[in-house]
Amino acid sequence: MTEQLTQLQSLDEKHHIHPFTDQGDLNDRGTRVITRAEGVYLWDAHGHKLLDGMAGLWCVNVGYGRKELAQTAYDQMMELPYYNSFFQCTTPPTIKLAEKLAELAPEHINNVFFTGSGSDSNDTILRLVRHYWACRGEPMKSVIISRKNGYHGSTVAGASLGGMTWMHEQGNLPIPGIVHIDQPYWFGEGGDEDPNEFGLRVARQLEEKILDLSVDRVAAFIAEPIQGAGGVIIPPETYWPEIQRICDKYGILLISDEVICGFGRTGKWFGADYFGVKPDFMPIAKGLSSGYLPIGGVMISDRVADVLKNDGGELAHGYTYSGHPAAAAVALKNLQIIQDEKLVERVEQDIGPYLQKRWRELGDHPLVGEVRGVGLIGALELVKDKAKRERHPGNGKVGTLCRDACTANGLVMRATGDTMLVSPPLVITHEQVDELVEKARKALDDTLQAIEDGALAED
Ligand code: PMP
Repeated sequence: MTEQLTQLQSLDEKHHIHPFTDQGDLNDRGTRVITRAEGVYLWDAHGHKLLDGMAGLWCVNVGYGRKELAQTAYDQMMELPYYNSFFQCTTPPTIKLAEKLAELAPEHINNVFFTGSGSDSNDTILRLVRHYWACRGEPMKSVIISRKNGYHGSTVAGASLGGMTWMHEQGNLPIPGIVHIDQPYWFGEGGDEDPNEFGLRVARQLEEKILDLSVDRVAAFIAEPIQGAGGVIIPPETYWPEIQRICDKYGILLISDEVICGFGRTGKWFGADYFGVKPDFMPIAKGLSSGYLPIGGVMISDRVADVLKNDGGELAHGYTYSGHPAAAAVALKNLQIIQDEKLVERVEQDIGPYLQKRWRELGDHPLVGEVRGVGLIGALELVKDKAKRERHPGNGKVGTLCRDACTANGLVMRATGDTMLVSPPLVITHEQVDELVEKARKALDDTLQAIEDGALAED
């Protein structure tokens, strides 16, 4: 394998540009080639076994190696591998998936527009939001308010709606008509303020921004229920009710980006259910098919769908793969597995509380400044001084050290700056949670040792 692997790595270096990767750095280290997976485990080309604490990219909710999903894809591809939903056509799996999603979504949401990914979904939303207000005779209402450090994908609209300034720096983003307010990140930005006071104050920035821009220019507010890629930022409990109040008061559409929180991650079907908010749009992807085939969608509330359906004319928007039958069939089967195995209930009542209990034990580690989590999602903030919430020098270097220590210990954990993230498959067992926490602790010990040995000193 070693020779074959070296050859694969050199071909990769020659021909493959990776997403979110410093290509020079990658080529120095050599790409990790993942060759197979089963349940919650991955194997790389060296035969190293890794517990996948991230469910791929927060998506493999039902775990790897599900033969039913492979069989469904095979059967559908033999029957009808592709047809589109343009020109008054569609396919049976597409219709059935739309019906199933309407059943699972909050009561006031009964329509879906299919896309190929989370980014496509947010591009679609940008257009639908503006089209909706134009249909209502208010085309001036076009500004979307979003949040700093939010993540909504990496297409032009997705990255603009997102609030990652390092992404904006490439490609002259954000596009006009999108403005950002602060995130509800108490640990990083709340200082000495009480978390709930902080939550209210940050939510009220939405009201200030609406008044500042003038209500007749503001179309919508978009946010992730829990910020995922930004570092698993869980808002204080005062935050979402205040956001809902403000959206209701000013008649602003609310977009809950469910790409990570959707399909059981929080112990509810959607993050909006968890926080008790009533969105007009929900972008979905990832857990919709557990990543087995690419598919996404935009779920649309009745009040918006009624306008689009009755007053919208021809919708000048759509993708070749909107409602792709093989992807839709796999997504439908995936949702059936989640329902049959009661995975959402399992996250709420059993494995979620267990992960949270074990995960919080890591709070006693000298490197850990805060442990937080909900359901099957968690974060550890790595710090130099717990009481002062002071970071180590090196701007994310400790996170990278810890991520590498995790991999060396057989665990995939993601680092966002110096925040370590987990989001394992919903089928993870109690024993596997124990293994995850044990490996994470060993990685923290190794990271601390590396710091003591001067790993940060070169900076
Ligand atoms: N929204 C959120 C909240 C996400 O986390 C992501 C991906 N991590 C996206 C949108 C973009 O999804 P995709 O990568 O499928 O385009």
